[in-house]
Amino acid sequence: MSFSAAPSSMSPGTLYVVATPIGNLDDISARALKVLAEVSLIAAEDTRHSARLMQHFGIATPLAACHEHNERAEGSRFIARLQAGENVALISDAGTPLISDPGYHLVRQARAAGIAVVPVPGACALIAALSAAGLPSDRFIFEGFLPAKAVGRRARLEQVREEPRTLIFYEAPHRILESLEDMRAVFGEERPALLARELSKAFETLKGLPLGELCAWVAADSNQQRGECVVLVAGWQAPEGEDAVSAEALRVLDLLLAELPLKRAAALAAEITGVRKNLLYQVALERQQ
Ligand code: SAM
Repeated sequence: MSFSAAPSSMSPGTLYVVATPIGNLDDISARALKVLAEVSLIAAEDTRHSARLMQHFGIATPLAACHEHNERAEGSRFIARLQAGENVALISDAGTPLISDPGYHLVRQARAAGIAVVPVPGACALIAALSAAGLPSDRFIFEGFLPAKAVGRRARLEQVREEPRTLIFYEAPHRILESLEDMRAVFGEERPALLARELSKAFETLKGLPLGELCAWVAADSNQQRGECVVLVAGWQAPEGEDAVSAEALRVLDLLLAELPLKRAAALAAEITGVRKNLLYQVALERQQ
């Protein structure tokens, strides 16, 4: 495989989306280092931050800012260089670009311009946390950062209260306690959860407890309110008796599913049978899979 940086008038360059470490610098891949060393330009969320990383690895490739404030307006500069045949790498301050980080607009612009976009996979906090959490990992949803204000945060949590898949949130350390307390209020004391803090760093901590106990544990130790963190919460489980949808309700649902989009079928089946719409929606999803 070649990552030639030489401009060519014949074909456009490639935009490499390169993951960088989330803590431990040894987590960068050999391929990431090769790409970063060989491209013409690195589009970085914070050039000063990334300059230190590049210096650490002895990489002298020029850096240019690509952050949430200039990404849309300045994207065309990067696109022009790609179209002129240069290869460009996109990185963020830590982990995988676009995952609660800038890069979405540049990737979209590049793809719309017919430029090849190649991922160079690596660290990602949500995946690292999920891989070690011991919560169901076959299906999960990533909610990113919750709204900073309590009203918005509670409303967002309410929307996913009956979500059956494992829930994953990013949170800032100064809000971790209030967010956990809101989760406890919305999801209940007993819902299993896990706090993954400072992954791959010196004070790495993974603590799995029911939400009620997890809140108390974090409240009692201010060290747990420092550093970077991911919160995982087990998905909703239907209380006893609700998980069995009657054969008649299933028959109605199946008939409607054959004729209508899933959401509409679930809503109509709920009206006809009196079974909760959310429950029928989940059942419909499973039946279509
Ligand atoms: N792009 C990154 C990724 O791939 O994970 C995420 C960037 S987002 C701006 C930063 C958030 O990711 C932090 O607030 C925290 O929730 C999570 N995070 C990043 N590094 C982490 C680490 N080492 N341990 C735990 N959480 C981390």
